[in-house]
Amino acid sequence: MTDHPHRPETVAAGALGYEDADSGAIIPPIHPSTTYVRDPDNAYSRGRVYARADNPTFDTAARTLSALENGADTLLFASGMAAATAVFMALEPGDHVVVPDVMYWALRNWLHGAATRWGLRVEGVDTADSDAVRAALRPGETKLVWVETPANPLWTVTDIAAVAGLAHEAGARLAVDSTVATPVHTRPLDLGADIVMHSATKYLNGHSDVIAGTLTTARKDEAWARIKAVQTQQGGILGSFEAWLLQRGLRTLFARVRWQSAAAQGLAERLSAHPAVSDVLYPGLPGFPGHGIAARQMTGGYGGMLSIRVKAGAPAAIATAAGVTVWRRATSLGGVESLIEHRASIEGPTSPVPGNLLRLSVGLEAPDDLFEDLDRALNRAAG
Ligand code: PLP
Repeated sequence: MTDHPHRPETVAAGALGYEDADSGAIIPPIHPSTTYVRDPDNAYSRGRVYARADNPTFDTAARTLSALENGADTLLFASGMAAATAVFMALEPGDHVVVPDVMYWALRNWLHGAATRWGLRVEGVDTADSDAVRAALRPGETKLVWVETPANPLWTVTDIAAVAGLAHEAGARLAVDSTVATPVHTRPLDLGADIVMHSATKYLNGHSDVIAGTLTTARKDEAWARIKAVQTQQGGILGSFEAWLLQRGLRTLFARVRWQSAAAQGLAERLSAHPAVSDVLYPGLPGFPGHGIAARQMTGGYGGMLSIRVKAGAPAAIATAAGVTVWRRATSLGGVESLIEHRASIEGPTSPVPGNLLRLSVGLEAPDDLFEDLDRALNRAAG
């Protein structure tokens, strides 16, 4: 673990106090170069060879994230999916892995499709239930437990410390998709996880203009070297410009996420009392299953994501999404603009998501405008 004397807000805002040695510039440059000069004696004393392996433009975002997650190293990937799949592809065919039933749908589809065909033995469980995780673990055979908390789009909460203990007892490692919690609210490595993953497309960049993924490791060990090799060989790296935008987005992470979490909490409370809404799914609501665990492992808020279930059913949910004007009807999450999405339409028939569910990503607009817009659309859809 690295020792950073400053508080996380200071680390993020100042990008670890970057200063260009030649010019004194406080903003790092973009390095588009794909290759680096070899020394006359044939060595690469500056440590860079070819930009599929690494690129100085990655350094600021990677080091900032290592500091925020209290990790030993960070890799930047071309997408969240490239980051997540690299963790599984660093395993051996035949290895057993335990994954959540409820998780980001494209990763679930990949695990039960391509990864299974490649030879991974993939077992889905309710990771919010520690007894179910214990029962699924096969000591000596299970190499990885993957959890996502809060999990998209039902916001199920998994107890990271409890699952880390169970995974380690069985000889497995724990990886956590912390995209929704962000380092503002949860530091999975401090709770015992081995790897933390983010779709940096979401809150870390925060402006809906970069597709990116990250992995941060607790230790630079053999498993990490294998993941790094998967990335270098397959070439799922981030572009220079995207890496630069990511470091810029990270500087405002705390201000954005704190605002978004506070607004989401307020909306969750107001929507709980709405006559057209049958259920509000949000870890910050005291009645939400998993709220107790969330209150222990999340600090300073419960994130900017919530879902509502529309009382009148799926057609009314779709009509509600069609009736808003402030919320944008689009997929994705974590940007400055609020998004609304009917998830069942996108996830298809194998999805565990109810047809009357709308997923809400809360942005930086005035919370009253967001509530009034949704209130109008809900009332209109309810007839
Ligand atoms: N994990 C979560 C929780 C996500 O919401 C997403 C994307 O929506 C991903 C992973 C995949 O990230 P990307 O779209 O950057 O590949």
